[in-house]
Amino acid sequence: MSSNAKPEVDLSARCACGQVVLTVRGRIRSMFLCSCEDCQRATGTGHATVALARLADVTLAGSAASFARPAHSGATLTRWFCATCGTPLYAQSSRAPDLLMLPVGLFGPNADWFAPNQVIFARSHHEWDVLPAGTPQHETYRDPESSP
Ligand SMILES: [Zn+2]
Ligand SMILES: [Zn+2]
Repeated sequence: MSSNAKPEVDLSARCACGQVVLTVRGRIRSMFLCSCEDCQRATGTGHATVALARLADVTLAGSAASFARPAHSGATLTRWFCATCGTPLYAQSSRAPDLLMLPVGLFGPNADWFAPNQVIFARSHHEWDVLPAGTPQHETYRDPESSP
């Protein structure tokens, strides 16, 4: 693993309408791409681009709404988004409630620290969705800590 596998970040980002501000201060726990069908639907793209952070390192100001659904693992996955403009803010699994899955695109130009170390749910990945060459791919989950 390279030294930036778990980068230390100090970031804040606003949703599209500006009423939600999300701040992350701490060490990113994992970085991955998820090609599961739920992430495809939630993002409208071929995969979700996710940084895993500790709940304790994230603060949110503003009005967020949520939608919960069963995940492949049997856990409940809750996705949070701006109640006004719908910008995705983070997702949380009932199996790892102390971790948040942050959508990296939320940080706009301040996402150069991101380097995905794996693709999960490659079994539902589409060929037209181009992934970084050489990124390890897993049919479903690799390990429990990084599972949506
Ligand atoms: Zn908004
Ligand atoms: Zn997924």
